[in-house]
Amino acid sequence: MHIRQPIVAVLGHVDSGKTSLLDRIRGTGVQGREAGGITQHIGASFLPTETIKEMCGPLYKKLEQSENKVPGLLVIDTPGHEVFTNLRSRGGSAADIAILVVDVNRGFQPQTNESLKILQSRKVPFVVALNKCDQISGWRKSETKFISQAIKEQDASIQADLDQKVYDVVGTLSILGYKSEAFYRVEDFKSEIAIVPISARSGVGIPELLSVLVGLTQQYLQKRLNQDEKEPRGIILEVKDEVGLGQTANVILIDGIIKKENSIVVAKRDGVIVTKPKALLLPKPLDEMRDPRDKFKPVPQVEAAAGFKIASPDLEGVLPGSTLYVASNDEEIAKYTELIESEMKSVFVDTETNGVILKCDTIGSLEAIMEMLKRSQVPVAKADIGPVTRRDVIEAKAIKEKDRHLGVVLAFNVKMLEDAQDESETSHIKLFENKVIYSLIDNYNAWVEEDSANEEDAMFAELTPISKFSFMKGMVFRNNNPAVFGVRVDVGNLKHKIPFMNMKGHKVGYIHQLQLDKKTVSTAKTGDEVACSVKDVTIGRQIFEEEVYYTFPPSHEAKQILKKFMHKLSSEEQEVFNDIVRIQREIEPVYGY
Ligand code: GDP
Repeated sequence: MHIRQPIVAVLGHVDSGKTSLLDRIRGTGVQGREAGGITQHIGASFLPTETIKEMCGPLYKKLEQSENKVPGLLVIDTPGHEVFTNLRSRGGSAADIAILVVDVNRGFQPQTNESLKILQSRKVPFVVALNKCDQISGWRKSETKFISQAIKEQDASIQADLDQKVYDVVGTLSILGYKSEAFYRVEDFKSEIAIVPISARSGVGIPELLSVLVGLTQQYLQKRLNQDEKEPRGIILEVKDEVGLGQTANVILIDGIIKKENSIVVAKRDGVIVTKPKALLLPKPLDEMRDPRDKFKPVPQVEAAAGFKIASPDLEGVLPGSTLYVASNDEEIAKYTELIESEMKSVFVDTETNGVILKCDTIGSLEAIMEMLKRSQVPVAKADIGPVTRRDVIEAKAIKEKDRHLGVVLAFNVKMLEDAQDESETSHIKLFENKVIYSLIDNYNAWVEEDSANEEDAMFAELTPISKFSFMKGMVFRNNNPAVFGVRVDVGNLKHKIPFMNMKGHKVGYIHQLQLDKKTVSTAKTGDEVACSVKDVTIGRQIFEEEVYYTFPPSHEAKQILKKFMHKLSSEEQEVFNDIVRIQREIEPVYGY
């Protein structure tokens, strides 16, 4: 059996100490250079066995007896769930095991929960690093790097305090369905999650953390790590333009060997790219780097697990998070092209069914959110990568007419184009934006719940309000682009972003903005005198001083008002609404039906 090194990812809440932990692991490795040190990869660092052995000291003895010794650990350099979600692989993860960092004094925080949910959905085993032990009040500094020893050196009250903090985590994890225990009390590593108290700052506990990681992977991940008969494949982490190299992709090779003469098969948004790499690159060791711009060293081949760079002008548009296949003949190219096409089909969603519209920044976040929406039983009509466009909002609008709770846009880490923003305001399409995956879904679910509770009021509030208002004589502030003029609200409430008509029933345009006493307001009430701006009209052409206007609900809204909401209008509003319907029916007999 040829076992490769496991790929390790670090996750956890902001400020829990993920970066410090990675620095500490790498730093200790660098200091242990004589024993093998660490090798820098692209996006990852490799700790060979000798280094781990030196760091773990006597703890390594037991690990050495395993028949399936792993040749070290490949630790992904960028912590956090953003990179982790892109480390995807056939519905699972390219990471073999993860370290979930928890701040000992803060316990579980929002992103700890989010990380856990992602680990769960990708079925990645993990170890909890209970970090910042040195910050437990009263903690005594000691020389040892072994946490088991350091705990013994603490006062009894501090030991009890740490125990309590460990049990808090055990409690939280048990609510979430996991059995866990401090690593020194774990009896069965397969069914219990090990909690290792550490300090990324002092380095205490790192030996235990590493030995638990190595022990777990040697015992339970042999099949995954065994390289016999594995097809070479990797995952694209990032695509970027590199000075002097042009388009490059950072890749983690999960299995097998890639040679420079092989073809690679990768996905872009609208198809498959087949290309031969111009170069396979690894970082140059520091002592070989004379010019800092000359960071990479071309190599003829790379063996898994490894982080490396591919340079090729054809890589433009390749999707981060997509699988990279390695082909040595036409038959394999055809096979992998088909595989990628079907993979992409299962990731992107575009259906005619009712569901939410989801836009994400990467294929990894898209997949993770889809999975969670599925668990929350929220159907998805469309899921894609890229900014929120006007078309997305219009699609949501059509869905909303059939199901008001599904006609929404969920956006994860993407921009909203300006015309999409306008459209969502005028059409009352809810947009949920969040950079924390589970908050995005929680906020949506909370809104659905709240909105269902007072659905009638919520529906009425979204309709074009019924109002009558007049253009005040002499109140012309600007003729056009946009036209700005003073109006008095005669009946009802006037709002911005709503359509209005003249007495003949012709639609004039949309009220763009309202200003009361020079302050922008969204609503003006009966009797208010406000400045009103309207785009695409000119005073003296489409609109005139002293004219009287009505707000103009579209036909389907008029129908809802007639059927369900007349009782919500005041008698004056009812009168105005009856006028609107009468005038419109002279032009369009089916208005409001
Ligand atoms: P990240 O956001 O999870 O990557 O967290 P960082 O590694 O940037 O750490 C956040 C802050 O906590 C920094 O100020 C670190 O110096 C500090 N920190 C991290 N680990 C420890 C630790 O073990 N002990 C103490 N006292 N501080 C720590």
